[in-house]
Amino acid sequence: MAGKGNDSPAIGIGLGTTYSCVAVWKHNRIEIIPNDQGNRTTPSCVAFADKERLIGDGANNQQAMNPANTIFDAKRLIGRRFSDSKVQEDIKLWPFKVIKGNSDTPKIVVTYKGQKMEFLAQEISSMILGKMKESAEAYLGNDVKDAVITVPAYFNDSQRQATKEAGTIAGLNVIRMINEPTAAAIAYGLDNKSDIVGKINVLVFDLGGGTFDVSLMTIEEGGIFEVKAVAGDTHLGGEDFDNRMVDHCVLEFKRRWKKDLTGNQRALGRLRFACEKAKRILSCATHTLIELDSLHEGIDFSMKFTRAKFEGLNMDLFEMSIKTLETCLSDAKMKKSCIDQVILVGGSTRIPKVQHMLLEYFNGRELCKSVNPDEAVAYGAAVLASKLSGNTEKSVQDVVLRDVTPLSLGIEAHGDIFNVVIPRNTPIPTSKAKVYSTIKDNQTTLAIPVYQGERSRSKDNHFLGKFSISGIPPAPKCVSTVMIGIEIDANGILTVTASVISTGKMKKLTITNAIGRLSKEKIEKMVHDAEKYKFEDQEFKKKAEAHNALEDCIYKMKNKIEERSVKESVHHEILQVMKKAIDKTNKWLKDNQAAPFAELHSKKVHLEFVCKLLF
Ligand code: AMP
Repeated sequence: MAGKGNDSPAIGIGLGTTYSCVAVWKHNRIEIIPNDQGNRTTPSCVAFADKERLIGDGANNQQAMNPANTIFDAKRLIGRRFSDSKVQEDIKLWPFKVIKGNSDTPKIVVTYKGQKMEFLAQEISSMILGKMKESAEAYLGNDVKDAVITVPAYFNDSQRQATKEAGTIAGLNVIRMINEPTAAAIAYGLDNKSDIVGKINVLVFDLGGGTFDVSLMTIEEGGIFEVKAVAGDTHLGGEDFDNRMVDHCVLEFKRRWKKDLTGNQRALGRLRFACEKAKRILSCATHTLIELDSLHEGIDFSMKFTRAKFEGLNMDLFEMSIKTLETCLSDAKMKKSCIDQVILVGGSTRIPKVQHMLLEYFNGRELCKSVNPDEAVAYGAAVLASKLSGNTEKSVQDVVLRDVTPLSLGIEAHGDIFNVVIPRNTPIPTSKAKVYSTIKDNQTTLAIPVYQGERSRSKDNHFLGKFSISGIPPAPKCVSTVMIGIEIDANGILTVTASVISTGKMKKLTITNAIGRLSKEKIEKMVHDAEKYKFEDQEFKKKAEAHNALEDCIYKMKNKIEERSVKESVHHEILQVMKKAIDKTNKWLKDNQAAPFAELHSKKVHLEFVCKLLF
């Protein structure tokens, strides 16, 4: 249940591949919550260092110095198998280590406080969600529990489940998950309420850091948002454009200096950082310079990058996004001329070539850039969060959402054939069933693998898990029948059921070995670990503050002595005692860098006391 009242408002979190954003309904409007650095978006990045764990801006800023223990892109790993070809491609480019865990689950390996540790992608995402929760709590002055979290529309069940688990590990009650383009459409709908007359067809083109979604929906006057079709690629976005630039620079370095820098993770990290910056500049300038001192083996690297070069390197990826857009229109059986508004969401829609191609595709129709591409998704999620937690404001209560399932769901029937039970773009929540018969004489058990995807061979689709039903009365083949039902809830998460028709016995089955699905006990352990890390972070912060306070105290006391010895004729012996106390504390601080908070604090209190006594 969502928390009621203003004491603990529900928040909306846009959990992006590269940046995350959190928003809340306050003062009768949606407010984007700044983080502790005052930034409205927070890098989805976690760093593990010798002494502390950093999340967000702090982690991002030290990436070049600590590449092997700075984790980004968890969203590209979440809910995927280690053997997934996309994961294998990414691993080659990431400066951190990913290994194969149980059931083909990818595990991220880091060194934290001198110890080797392994984390699941859910745990890294939970740390980012925890940071967003903390920002919201600091801003609101209240504990925050309930949240709506966004996911790419094209995420499959495993990716959704794993994202929900990340929320639970972060100590959040995930009251709903909402597709990113749907959330962006809500932001657009509420911002442009007065311009929406009757029913309009809207296309949301959402190209972010790691994922691409295109969603076709109708918005009805009064706030009904109905998704007609979605299409996308959960592995296409700004980071792919950065990677192409990095690859190009690596080749150029090799050509100029006959040296391969691919083994130098620090150099690659610095190069990636510089390329991302250059890419942003190229969205407003036609050329820029990438300059890195002593990039590899002491060699300085400098290279001019033009917008044309950037576009040439990524043209096939841009074209892929337009093809996906065509699929979405054809799924919705809609002509491009029927689209009333094209809404741009996601940082990568700032790329001029992407905008140009869209303009061309829609024959010069103006693109809507009025929603903030970085914040719109969190904005929409916060509206839904507020509605679900009982906000009585009319514009919020009137919001009605009708979404669709992005991928077809079904089972492997005879041989390797994928048999669809729920076709893609079916409105959700939904539940459909199909009857299957036994394929052998006296068959008493039926094993049924469940898949999600659009290919006709089941092996080419995403395997969700296998379940089996026993207790089928023995009979000749094709006589006994089993009904398989698949249900998708409002979060897009599914449950599979089966019943033996002849006995009428119904049995609810859960997919057991779906990738990323964690047991209740494992989640509880992770929640516990997350709290432990949070406590450690707080302790570290407290200690660092006490260390600075003591250093500050020593500095101030030194100055005070000098000031007073010049201005007044303070007794020489008193000065000597004070100087001695200060020098002693200073030496102690240098020798005891790892001292705990309590000791640091008591040294400061002691020094202040001695100085006060003597003055
Ligand atoms: P999002 O996931 O929506 O936060 O988008 C983040 C992605 O947008 C990252 O890959 C950024 O590098 C990219 N991005 C942000 N601003 C720009 C810009 N001005 N030009 C090109 N890409 C950008």
